[in-house]
Amino acid sequence: LPKRQDGRRVLLKLSGEAFGGGAVGVDPDVVSRIAGEIAEGVAQGIQCAIVVGGGNFFRGAELSQRGMDRRRADYMGMLGTVMNCLALQDFLEQRGVSTRVQTAIEMGQVAEPYIPLRAVRHLEKGRVVIFGAGAGMPYFSTDTVAVQRALEIGCEEVLMAKNGVDGVYDSDPRKNPDAKKLEHVSYGEALQKGLKVVDSTAFSLCMDNAQQMMVFGLDQEGNITRAMRGERIGTVVTK
Ligand code: UDP
Repeated sequence: LPKRQDGRRVLLKLSGEAFGGGAVGVDPDVVSRIAGEIAEGVAQGIQCAIVVGGGNFFRGAELSQRGMDRRRADYMGMLGTVMNCLALQDFLEQRGVSTRVQTAIEMGQVAEPYIPLRAVRHLEKGRVVIFGAGAGMPYFSTDTVAVQRALEIGCEEVLMAKNGVDGVYDSDPRKNPDAKKLEHVSYGEALQKGLKVVDSTAFSLCMDNAQQMMVFGLDQEGNITRAMRGERIGTVVTK
């Protein structure tokens, strides 16, 4: 699949943590605000596919540390992402944005199955496509899926919207108060230094396929629209 020539197509990755507004579950005010920013970008003609995380419900790795089987816990994590997809779908539709949810685990009553060519067709018609249930496979993260989907449906950029952090830092800003935000970083450097704002599988998939990425914070209002338009508001990650 060639990348879109006549305009911009992006893959927006939204952290599940943001959806919860700091708690377990979905905070409608937060999701509504996020939907509003996406709607604005779509109104400007930007094709947008979305991968939503599920950290506001379950993280498989955390549950397994507390005694659950990792694989089963990962499936719980994937199902959590689907609830976030439906919440986002609802607030987008309320704003008049046409949407489709596609999931990597089939559940016909709530979503279409993941069909890449069909996703592209939706985008071409101006619909927002929201991908749920991650890759449908344990041991993956939604960051990694975001890169995979972007590659498969030909997105020029992966926009990693994070909460509580506004880019890639030279060390963990939550632990080191002197950590500096980087304007630009290469995948190799991010991997070598173990900069964990995006997981290493996602970084390496980007690196091997020359997929551009920008990591930015969604806490500041308007940032999602800015990122969709291509403004450099976070850290650009390239080869
Ligand atoms: N998950 C998985 N396979 C995938 C995507 C997600 O097993 O392809 C599970 C995994 O347990 C993960 C959880 O779903 O912890 C929620 O996703 P993630 O942690 O990536 O969400 P985020 O941090 O973006 O909120």
